[in-house]
Formats: sequence, structure tokens, C-alpha cells
Amino acid sequence: MALKAPSFLADAMLGSVARKLRIFGFDTLYIAHAHDDEILKMGIEQGRVILTADKELFKRVVKAGARGVLVSGASDLEDLVHILSKNGITSVDLDGIGSRCSVCNGLLEEKKPEQVKNGLPDKVAKMHREFYQCTVCNKVYWEGGHLRRIRALAKSVDSKLLLLGRTSATT
Ligand SMILES: [Zn+2]
Repeated sequence: MALKAPSFLADAMLGSVARKLRIFGFDTLYIAHAHDDEILKMGIEQGRVILTADKELFKRVVKAGARGVLVSGASDLEDLVHILSKNGITSVDLDGIGSRCSVCNGLLEEKKPEQVKNGLPDKVAKMHREFYQCTVCNKVYWEGGHLRRIRALAKSVDSKLLLLGRTSATT
């Protein structure tokens, strides 16, 4: 990932996009209940790119001189590609799992099975050797169906970003 990775602030409609950005390793706050004023203030104070599908809020973001991306909210894939390309990200580097907890935005640490706090379900401990645990809420991640889907999504995002890059280079 680029050194100066942007951080994001997603509004109430974009919970799913926010979780995916976290898994991709981007520092992303998601506010389920907040007034537009609060979102605007927090985005400016913390230097976060405000993500919204709300045209009125986006207008205010632009007017306030804050950074923001207006998404359609129609599909996570399209929204992610749009958000990342607007921020100069040309690929999603999923080394390991990425670095953030999808639930709380905490940083993840690689763990051996015996190091996982609060233990693992027996079945999971038997089937997997590599784990990641959130340093804040202790949620455990492992190489399974969920991560596989996220990797597939990352691949789709990357190929679309690549295509966008090519198109803009030739026009
Ligand atoms: Zn967490």
C-alpha cells in the first residue's frame, strides 16, 4: 500500500463499503448515527475523506473545502473502485489480510493458534493454522470463506482500477 494511504469517514448509508475498506487496510470510520454537521466537522478535523451517497451532504463537503467522494451507493464494487481511483489508489494490496478489523477499525495482529485470546472454536483450530486478531475488540480472522470472498473482491477492484488507469492514460 502507498505510504500516504488516505483515511476515510463513511456516512450511515455506507456501512458495507466501510467494512470492506477496513479489510483492505484503510483507516475508516463509520458513523451510523450522526448529523451531517458532525460528519463534516469530524472529516475536516481528522483529515478524513468523507464518503457519502447523499448529494446534499456532498455539496456541503465541497463548499466547506473538505475532501469527499460522492458514491452512487448502488454496488459496493463500483463504489470501492470509484473511491479508490478518486484518491489515487491504483491497486489494493492484500498482503496477509490487510490490517484493519472490519467491525471496529482496530489494527490486526498475526497470531499462532495458541496465542489467540479467548480461544478458538475446536473446528476452526483444527482446520486452520494462521490467524489474525483485532488488537481492540479481539475478533479473530482466519483463512476461510469470508477472506476468500474478500480476496476475490479485491481482485475485481484491482482489475477495474487497472482498466480505469489505462483509459485515463490514453485519453
Ligand atoms: Zn475489532
